[in-house]
Amino acid sequence: MSAAPTGRCPGAYLTNSSPKGAGLNRMCTRWLRLRRVGLAVDDGVVSFRMGIDLGGTKIEGVVLGASDEVVVRRRVPTDAVRGYDHIVATVAELAEALRDDAPGCSRVGVGTPGAVSVRSGFIKNSNTQCLNGRDLATDLRRAIGCDLVLENDANCFALAEVRLGAARDHEVVFGVILGTGVGGGLVLSGHAHAGRQRIAGEWGHHRIDPDGPDCYCGQRGCVEAYLSGPAFERSYEALAGETLPASAIVERARENDSHAREALDTYLDRFGWALANVINILDPDAVVLGGGMSNIDELYSSGRDRVERYIFSDELVTPILRNQLGDSAGVLGAALLGVGN
Ligand SMILES: [Zn+2]
Repeated sequence: MSAAPTGRCPGAYLTNSSPKGAGLNRMCTRWLRLRRVGLAVDDGVVSFRMGIDLGGTKIEGVVLGASDEVVVRRRVPTDAVRGYDHIVATVAELAEALRDDAPGCSRVGVGTPGAVSVRSGFIKNSNTQCLNGRDLATDLRRAIGCDLVLENDANCFALAEVRLGAARDHEVVFGVILGTGVGGGLVLSGHAHAGRQRIAGEWGHHRIDPDGPDCYCGQRGCVEAYLSGPAFERSYEALAGETLPASAIVERARENDSHAREALDTYLDRFGWALANVINILDPDAVVLGGGMSNIDELYSSGRDRVERYIFSDELVTPILRNQLGDSAGVLGAALLGVGN
């Protein structure tokens, strides 16, 4: 809740003659402007949260105000080919650029592909492969200069859709990412659930065909090898002998092109198998879909029918929801990690 714009600037107790005087002057000026626009103040501390989404192609940062409104948002390229140190430095620069808009924020939420190994504390399972085997949390903490929380990006997506988007008011939510890769995240009672190995919700790498195509994770027949956008495009190419983007294949299927219809029908059927497996085990209150492939309307009609066909139940009452936050969900979820999760 936004409180009345009263109280003291967090830096006001220090004098302008201190070495940090100039920065504090800037902080106070900024704080006074925030007071004027009515942003929240709680006992002299403005309740801002900073989130950073470390994606494979872009790094996005956001500052949320006390009512979860976006105060500022910035996006820079990841440039992952320049390596791990470059990524850490870029995240730190982005956090520094956002700091003026987040006075009082002492904890940053960071969403990243992969997960932190329980045993080593290093990143594992990331498709931004230069992160794997590195102590990202410690390195970012040192570079940014404040406390931070690191969480899987699909968990951040699911958390944002539960707190701010399509899955509000649901207790147990499974969030699905269908994009260049396939991921998933689990939110229980409004909190991201990482799991004992920090792999909760990683449905992209559960196998639906042990004789299926190779996956980069070392297994065969993973969901990602069937339900990612590139996998869908490859399946059409194998049938039709030509390469098209996923959206064009879907359009052709709607125009009754036989190869495109077959590719889309197979895709929806595999979606049904894969999601039925999750629902059989977890039986969530809602499923919310994100990622570029989640824009395929047929997932919510024919795809849903396939889920119903394959679950161990005579009915499917679980809502399968279209996301509301688009590609902002990841960074918003990262900011929500900072406080209250
Ligand atoms: Zn895999």
